[in-house]
Amino acid sequence: MKLIYPGPALNVSCHNHSCWSDGSTELKAVCRKGKEMGLKILGMSDHYVVPPGDGYDSETWSMKLSRLEEYIETLSQMRNELNDDHFSLKIGLEVDFFFENIEEVLAKLSSYPLDYLIGSVHYSGKFPVDHSIDDWVDLSEEEKNSICEEYYEKLQAAALRKEFLFIGHLDLPKKFGLIDNGKYFSHALKVLDNAAETGIGIELNTAGWYKECNEQYPSLAILEEANRRKIPVIVNADAHDPAHLKRDFERASAILKAAGYPER
Ligand SMILES: [Zn+2]
Ligand SMILES: [Zn+2]
Repeated sequence: MKLIYPGPALNVSCHNHSCWSDGSTELKAVCRKGKEMGLKILGMSDHYVVPPGDGYDSETWSMKLSRLEEYIETLSQMRNELNDDHFSLKIGLEVDFFFENIEEVLAKLSSYPLDYLIGSVHYSGKFPVDHSIDDWVDLSEEEKNSICEEYYEKLQAAALRKEFLFIGHLDLPKKFGLIDNGKYFSHALKVLDNAAETGIGIELNTAGWYKECNEQYPSLAILEEANRRKIPVIVNADAHDPAHLKRDFERASAILKAAGYPER
């Protein structure tokens, strides 16, 4: 797959989860629903997290690593069943970036017939960045800052990997509304600089409108800078329920216009 500047196409949705990771609904049912909803391209991207050691809780919310082949096989079957002139199913994964094992994880995945990978960060050290507001409320400013610093360090490195089609939910640490997102603007710009250099895209992820931050990922200010760098952007819902596959895509389109992105 290739993302082309300027984006966005409102009948394309490529960041979506089934109950094979932390979504609500069986994989095949999500695929059928995507076609029914009139999407032209539906990409499934269940979480693929290879923790670099003990003490991570990723098994509770990501795909069982031993099920990767079955996941691809199931989606290949669905592609045969559903694809036609108006609909195309893509096989993807949302991959967690860890400095310790990214080379081996990407090398392994390159041997599978996957259409695309999303590069995301959900952990700072062993701290789950977006798991629960309860993890954040008692943290000191210093602790929050070091979590954000490490988050962006990892995401900046992820943006240097051409194996990723795009970077997921760029300013995720703002999710619970407990940090000053503007404080990390320069960190986010470095992610954009790296993505531009690598030639990969970012997403406008509409799920943030349903979290405490009440804002899409990433902020308008970051999207303006992405446009300045001619970085392709894809609109995604990060759906964990098939009813949300196209949630707020019109609103997202207006935000991209406000950020200066030309219409397709
Ligand atoms: Zn994610
Ligand atoms: Zn996701």
